[in-house]
Amino acid sequence: MACLICGEAKTIEAHLIPKAFVAEVKTERGVQHLILHKGEARPRVSHTGVYDRGILCGPCDSILGGHEDYALELLRELRKPSGPSGGIIGVDPIDGDRMVRFAAGIAWKYAVTTQPGRIDIGPYVDVLADVALRDAPIPPSVDVAMLRIVELDGDVYFYRTPMPDRKEGANVVRFTVGSFIFFLKIDQRRNGSTLPAECWLRGRTKGAFVTGDAELTEEGRMHRQLSSSAPSRRFFTEMRARKARRP
Ligand SMILES: [Zn+2]
Repeated sequence: MACLICGEAKTIEAHLIPKAFVAEVKTERGVQHLILHKGEARPRVSHTGVYDRGILCGPCDSILGGHEDYALELLRELRKPSGPSGGIIGVDPIDGDRMVRFAAGIAWKYAVTTQPGRIDIGPYVDVLADVALRDAPIPPSVDVAMLRIVELDGDVYFYRTPMPDRKEGANVVRFTVGSFIFFLKIDQRRNGSTLPAECWLRGRTKGAFVTGDAELTEEGRMHRQLSSSAPSRRFFTEMRARKARRP
């Protein structure tokens, strides 16, 4: 299949969750991680996560790569200070639009992929393509807010692929990378009032994010349950044994 953005016939293996974010989950180079898909009985073992060969050419994929590099570095910086959980933490400076384009790109890939985890976001698939890949002005219907999940020593233990959700009556796409939950609003309705205005990052050069204990988030609780399930426990036991056998 040709590139969905520019029509170029030669497409590449486009990683749906960027490889660098997948790599953060693991403890050392070359170690595999587990992928669990809804409806699949057994987890898949993977090095780099799921990719799609039929959605993007190299140059278009690298547009997303630019947003992803920016987000990766920013989230790494933001994980450093270990403040109390439950607070609101300012970020100055931040390229808020870039974070919206980053989140739009991840959601768009999952809206067009034929791989497991595909989501339906209706007409927003085109809006997100414009925002993420064509450098279009970001409409008020698209915005992003982040919640930092604080777990154990504050490192990254999992990612979660996008899913449609509702936040304060508005449609959002929700996903987790780098120990941050992203809420990408795709809705004409105004941003909700639960979060302070500066947490919605569109158009901002100074922003903020909320922090929350892992146990207070659906993602944190789900991770704890899944990682203690039998297939996962077997996997981790085997990985530890393999590591112990290494000279
Ligand atoms: Zn292209």
